[in-house]
Amino acid sequence: MSKQRVRIAVIGGGIGGLTAAQVLLRAGHEVTCFEQAAELREVGAGIQVGPNASRVLHRLGLAEPLAKVAVQPVAIEIKRWDTGRVLSAMPGNPEISRRYGAPYYTMHRADLHAVLRAGVPDAALRLGARCVGVTHGAREVIARFADGSTHAADVVIGADGIRSQIRRSLADDAPRFSGQVACRVLVPAARVPALASPPTVRIWLGPGHHMVYYPVSGGSLLNFATAMPSRAPAAESWIHEGRREDALAGLAGWHEDLHAIMNAAEGTLELPLYDRAALARSGEGRVTLLGDAAHPMLPFFAQGAAQAIEDAWVLGRCLEGVAPEGVAGALRRYERARARRAAQLQRLSVRNGKLFQLPDGLRQRGRDLLLRRLSLESFDWLYGYDVTSAPLDPERGSEGGWRWRIGRITSRRPLPEGL
Ligand SMILES: Cc1cc2nc3c(=O)[nH]c(=O)nc-3n(C[C@H](O)[C@H](O)[C@H](O)COP(=O)(O)OP(=O)(O)OC[C@H]3O[C@@H](n4cnc5c(N)ncnc54)[C@H](O)[C@@H]3O)c2cc1C
Repeated sequence: MSKQRVRIAVIGGGIGGLTAAQVLLRAGHEVTCFEQAAELREVGAGIQVGPNASRVLHRLGLAEPLAKVAVQPVAIEIKRWDTGRVLSAMPGNPEISRRYGAPYYTMHRADLHAVLRAGVPDAALRLGARCVGVTHGAREVIARFADGSTHAADVVIGADGIRSQIRRSLADDAPRFSGQVACRVLVPAARVPALASPPTVRIWLGPGHHMVYYPVSGGSLLNFATAMPSRAPAAESWIHEGRREDALAGLAGWHEDLHAIMNAAEGTLELPLYDRAALARSGEGRVTLLGDAAHPMLPFFAQGAAQAIEDAWVLGRCLEGVAPEGVAGALRRYERARARRAAQLQRLSVRNGKLFQLPDGLRQRGRDLLLRRLSLESFDWLYGYDVTSAPLDPERGSEGGWRWRIGRITSRRPLPEGL
């Protein structure tokens, strides 16, 4: 990549910010990543990393550390809430690796975070640095911090999550509450051995709720998450400890496997789910956004972090060979390259939430019929999209949706929206 040293300030040391820092450091830029927390940490929960993102992580040389902590599920199943009937069964690894050249991982978020952190030298990381705004200049941009300090850079990347301070300087919007709350637990796999092995991602669909579980931490823990309706939280409510009794009450009538997991859990975390509308512009001058700061999405396609990781690589490509005075054009090119795919996944994530939680009836039966037709091929547009080589021309972006197949006919249309 470039020999030009562009001074880059990455605001936020989450999955997106740390990936961007690694990509840009490897390209030879001068990078400093500013994180508001005094200590880098992630919530105790799992994450699925699709091959569109693991491909990037492998290109960063992280396959080896990931192999030590990540799980490679052998199948992805969608099941019915009460009987456990399998509505869709797709192969996982190694078929996914063969088809897409990269695996489907499930892992503990803290493990992914630690792997990403290890690739960023201490000198490039400032902890306890809360950015409060940016001041644009013709030749540089100044990031301002809560302690009164400032940092001059050629580029500022807002990777500061769904409540981004940097986004505030670009758009007058706010996070939208989805009406859903996620309840997340981690259970020692030894307490539910039959459900943890062989490693499988299982998504359970039912009226008004859906649930997912998969193994993490080398298979020693099972991550279980439910999404269920909830009243709008108090304004400042964010992640907090939940009550197991509430989660169990939400499982009334659901399959015994789900009760077994919840009964084996010690504590629960509750997280109200938010997203934000797609932005008309996600940058200005020498400032741009990345990951949840740019396009936060509901977790129902398991793609928020994956899109942040894709962003990071594309940003690196756009800044390749660019001199400090040419960065604004490179940032606009990056934003155009990413806008369509990210906005599409934001929309599809909302739609998945509705499809997953249909009440039993005609529309649910129609959905289940189509789910039976799902194949890995249905996800080529998502997992086969290779940001390391895809054209940066937005007109040639991927078109998404769950594609389905009946006999030998593959629909070119995504799963209908109006089911
Ligand atoms: C329940 C749930 C399940 C999910 N499951 C998946 C999944 O399976 N797969 C997937 O791909 N995605 C998943 N996601 C989405 C994923 O978690 C996010 O998209 C991803 O974490 C976004 O990363 P980020 O780095 O952009 O933002 P964040 O992870 O929010 O990181 C932002 C960082 O910026 C810091 N920060 C904030 N403000 C400032 C400031 N002013 N100054 C300095 N630092 C600041 C924060 O402390 C934080 O460290 C899920 C989300 C939820 C809620």
